[in-house]
Amino acid sequence: MAYESTDFKCHYIIFNDFLRLMISVIALQYHYPLKLISMAEFLTTSGTSHHIENIIMEAKQKLLLVSPYLKLSKTLHERLKDASERGVQIKIIYGKDELKPNESNSLAGLKSVELYYFENLHAKCYFNETRMVITSMNMYEFSEKTNREMGVLIDATQDKALFQKAVEETGSIIKSSEDISLRKTERRYYQESINTQRNMPKMGYCIRCETRINFNPSKPYCNDCYMIWSQFENPFYEENVCHSCGEFDMSTMEKPLCSDCHRKN
Ligand SMILES: [Zn+2]
Ligand SMILES: [Zn+2]
Repeated sequence: MAYESTDFKCHYIIFNDFLRLMISVIALQYHYPLKLISMAEFLTTSGTSHHIENIIMEAKQKLLLVSPYLKLSKTLHERLKDASERGVQIKIIYGKDELKPNESNSLAGLKSVELYYFENLHAKCYFNETRMVITSMNMYEFSEKTNREMGVLIDATQDKALFQKAVEETGSIIKSSEDISLRKTERRYYQESINTQRNMPKMGYCIRCETRINFNPSKPYCNDCYMIWSQFENPFYEENVCHSCGEFDMSTMEKPLCSDCHRKN
């Protein structure tokens, strides 16, 4: 009887210790390691936009933007300009549509931007040295709030392996991409040649589609774009380029020239 009682006590202690051990293992599993293993954060549309913008603004040395559709919004262009002026090396990989002259020109105007074209690109990924967003959102959509997007925010130190894999994959995409050289010469050259031949009618750009049209600040649209504009007749509707120099800048029917050209004309 006494033996049995001791045996029972002994079993009880062993079971108790085992229980405690299990509890601490479970606690460790659920609290500690999970936080260490993954800190990836789920993002909806607004969170995705917010973090892409932060990634651009907080980049110190490098910035990689992977987005099939490359269309620069005014805000995005300004953010990239600030980053390039801080000395950030910017690499942009895109894959759909040819860049419009104004977009490649405005990118060429930025210091240290490398542009790569990869035809079958479908991934969207944005990162600097510390943070990354992998998402469904294209670059040009980051200021839009109506689309339903999803994304994941990854931290370079807390999600080291995950972050590194995406960096490597981006590197691999760049290796098989076409290096698009950014030069701003074409348009400048054209303008200089216009200026030297003063008897030729001055040419301008359609402020919406960038087609070359006669220079006339009161008619800054090509016929096709004018037809569409005239359905709404909004003189403040924001367009893409300056009617005179064709540079990427906000322009409207009311103010079709950039401030530089406005001063000159
Ligand atoms: Zn047009
Ligand atoms: Zn201009």
